[in-house]
Amino acid sequence: MATTTRVRKAAKTSRYTELQKMLENRRRELMNEVQGKIRDVRAEGGKDRDVLDQGESSEVDIQEDIEFALIQMKSETLNKINEALRRLDEGSYGNCFECGDEIAEPRLRALPFAVRCKDCEEARETAEQRERVMSQRRGSSALFFDMSN
Ligand SMILES: [Zn+2]
Repeated sequence: MATTTRVRKAAKTSRYTELQKMLENRRRELMNEVQGKIRDVRAEGGKDRDVLDQGESSEVDIQEDIEFALIQMKSETLNKINEALRRLDEGSYGNCFECGDEIAEPRLRALPFAVRCKDCEEARETAEQRERVMSQRRGSSALFFDMSN
C-alpha cells in the first residue's frame, strides 16, 4: 500500500517536472523571439528613414505593423504560458476541463493550452460538426423555400 502511494507520488512529480520544463522552454524561446523582434524593429525603424520616399516608407510602416502584431501575439502567448505555470503550481494545469482526467503529456506538448483531454475534445468536435451540418441543412432548406416562393 505504502509502495503504491510512493510510486504514484513519484509519477505525479515527474509529470509536474516534465510539464514545467516544457512550459519554461517555450517561455524562453518566445522571450528570445520577442526580444529579437523588438531589436529588429528598432534597428530598422532608426535607419534611413529620411531618405525613403513616400511609397517606401509606407512599406516599412506595414512591415513594422506586422512585426508589432507578431510581437503582440507572442506576448499574449507568453502571458498564457505564465498563467499555465501558475496553474501547474496550483495543481490545476493539465487536467481536463470536462472530465477532470489528466490530459496526456504528448497532447500538452503539442497543445500547451489544451483544456480538454483528447476524448472530450473529439466529442466536442463531433457535436460541433453535427451542429454545423444541421444548421447548413436548415440554411439550404430555407434557401430552397425562398426560391420556390
Ligand atoms: Zn476529458
